Amino acid sequence: MQEKVDFLVVGSGIAGLSYALKVANNGKVLIITKASEDETNTKYAQGGIAAVTYAPDSIEKHINDTLIAGDGLCDEEIVRIVITEGMLRTKELIEWGAQFDKDETGNYDLAREGGHSEYRVLHHKDNTGSEIENKLLDQIHKHPNISLHTHLFALDLITQHHLGDEVTRSKAGIVCYGIYALNLKTNKVETILSKVTLMATGGVGQLYNATTNPVIATGDGVAMVYRAKGNVKDMEFIQFHPTALYNPGESPCFLITEAVRGFGGILRRENGESFMEEYDERGSLAPRDIVARAIDNEMKKSGGEFVYLDCTQLDKIKFNDHFPNILAKCLGLGIDPSVQYIPVVPAAHYLCGGIDVDANGKTAIDNLFAAGECARTGLHGANRLASNSLLEALVFSHRAAIVGITLVDKVEHQESVPNWNADGTSNPKEMILITQNRRELQSLMSNYVAIVRSNVRLKRAMDRLRIIYGETEALYERTTVSPALCELRNMINVSYLVVKAALNRSENRGLHFNTDLIAE
Ligand SMILES: Cc1cc2nc3c(=O)[nH]c(=O)nc-3n(C[C@H](O)[C@H](O)[C@H](O)COP(=O)(O)OP(=O)(O)OC[C@H]3O[C@@H](n4cnc5c(N)ncnc54)[C@H](O)[C@@H]3O)c2cc1C
Repeated sequence: MQEKVDFLVVGSGIAGLSYALKVANNGKVLIITKASEDETNTKYAQGGIAAVTYAPDSIEKHINDTLIAGDGLCDEEIVRIVITEGMLRTKELIEWGAQFDKDETGNYDLAREGGHSEYRVLHHKDNTGSEIENKLLDQIHKHPNISLHTHLFALDLITQHHLGDEVTRSKAGIVCYGIYALNLKTNKVETILSKVTLMATGGVGQLYNATTNPVIATGDGVAMVYRAKGNVKDMEFIQFHPTALYNPGESPCFLITEAVRGFGGILRRENGESFMEEYDERGSLAPRDIVARAIDNEMKKSGGEFVYLDCTQLDKIKFNDHFPNILAKCLGLGIDPSVQYIPVVPAAHYLCGGIDVDANGKTAIDNLFAAGECARTGLHGANRLASNSLLEALVFSHRAAIVGITLVDKVEHQESVPNWNADGTSNPKEMILITQNRRELQSLMSNYVAIVRSNVRLKRAMDRLRIIYGETEALYERTTVSPALCELRNMINVSYLVVKAALNRSENRGLHFNTDLIAE
């Protein structure tokens, strides 16, 4: 089956949905997602969206905080663009219906998170992402030019490669004609031809055992673009959130937003000592890379599996009002935050690198754009400042939409695209081969390529990855495509890119910390 659209959007999170709304008056838009419409990282965002609203905050202060967090590797021009344009984009989000909490005087009740010098995070209780996702979906459903197809799994980008031409990474002029996608309801591979395509597939947290990301976060977009010979960058910079709730067996991990530390929560050892002051003068509100490494070190020293977040000294009524979901979650596990410490542990949270794009979200492949967490824009450098990612997604989706609109009338659909070549014919007989390799991959990434790395661990990870890669490719060649197998392939591909980038980095910056580099 072939379908033709003007704009194809892969992903239904904040990046994909806000882009679709922007281009919808200029052509037929199809959004596809491999899961239900709202199963996205966006839905789980708690803390909020960082945007300059009132004095004494200012654009310069927000820029400065972003640059400091990025540890010298941010693209300053991009930082300025995102912070400046972010104010307008946030206003649009409010016009689309998103509601952010206000105080008694009617002003926005701004929160503060690690690395921010001012209170500037707009939030909706502690479930900001769900508020944004729902309000965007409401707008999407109302627009006559937009269709949203769920349970359609994007397999690969269509380029000249599928017309029989040789495509190499350095070659200019690779063109995206659309996407092959597996319809999970019919089990058939569909060909979707598009004039302009946006990749908005989100993050990669599922590469690790402990992650705050939902199961959809398997790096599919990054892997698809890499396979199509597009460029990726900064893959070594994986952000671990310092404070996921310690609850063995729960996946994804439940997040205790940084806003809790902004509200006064303090990290403590089992004996009650506050330890962050020993690592950074900003204490519990130091940037995430520093806090995550400090917790990792504390756990290694004590042999414990977690540290504590102390909220017992905070105003109970205000805490309950600001963080109702966190309160409910803790109480459900028998922890009363007003009298007991909350056990917390770092968990894989955010990909700072990804598909390399220019200031308009354009990738190295013609007619293909990327926005949101799968894109590497240059905003985050070596470490993302908290709550800058929702903002980045809005700004880049907007910029990509403007260029996409000017492009769409100049592009014709490619008519000679063949249907999916289903070489593999048998169904995978033993799913255990796939699930076991996925577990093995998550475990090697957690053990060798997490918060603290070393050359030996990285090389060991690469060797193990090669074995899993060989086994999985052999399986892929002889079986029909399935989401489990395709996700595993994508995760192997992305893990390889993370390890390769980590091995290539010759100095410790931001989130990348290799013990062999301090010794030199
Ligand atoms: C627990 C948690 C808390 C967070 N808190 C904050 C916060 O307070 N502030 C902040 O700024 N950021 C926060 N973040 C980060 C932020 O939520 C994400 O970076 C952002 O929402 C990503 O949006 P996105 O549109 O790029 O991707 P997502 O929202 O993840 O959407 C990705 C979409 O792509 C689809 N998809 C993926 N692969 C395929 C495929 N092969 N075929 C078809 N569809 C596919 C998925 O199904 C999904 O629809 C948080 C993240 C988490 C997990």
